[in-house]
Amino acid sequence: MKACYPGTFDPITNGHLDIIERASRLFDEVVVLIMFNPRKTCLFNSEERKQMVIDSLKSIGNPQNVTVMIGSGLTVEFARKIGAAVIIRGIRAVSDYEYELGQATANMMLAHEIETAFLIAKPQYSFLSSSVCKEIALNGGDLLNLVPSQVEGPLKEKMAVVAENLKSVQGQI
Ligand code: ADP
Repeated sequence: MKACYPGTFDPITNGHLDIIERASRLFDEVVVLIMFNPRKTCLFNSEERKQMVIDSLKSIGNPQNVTVMIGSGLTVEFARKIGAAVIIRGIRAVSDYEYELGQATANMMLAHEIETAFLIAKPQYSFLSSSVCKEIALNGGDLLNLVPSQVEGPLKEKMAVVAENLKSVQGQI
């Protein structure tokens, strides 16, 4: 069975990567879908986010059944287009559940043949989000164990630019 794992992945974290690894053992094929979330402003463009996911797969031994694509439009429509019968999502806490329940119910109404499967976060990743990683990187904190090693460089580089911009804006106030 083919599954897709849609998300913003801005950038991919070890929590995301753990979900990908576990999903690759459950399904014949897993397509990681880099999506656009209108509720979020991204630090990295979709090509950069895709490349970081591809590079990070090395950390889990490049599973042969995992591919990465940039998706667009409704997730269920994209899932249909690529022949995925399952949408995988991760749940870290009750706060995720409320949002995910809404999304999964809407998707069920739009495409009854597609199921959403939830994998719960590993305890060590239950606090981990792309936003937390970006904040740590902005303030020069240690990203070890939070993001794949392949993401550390690009994240630090991008955040150095953001920090410079912030400094010049603060200087003008
Ligand atoms: P989106 O904007 O679609 O929520 P994200 O990249 O933030 O995209 O997350 C994609 C999916 O991965 C979501 O289902 C989210 O709950 C899950 N996820 C995010 N971080 C973790 C983590 N640390 N452990 C497990 N699942 C996670």
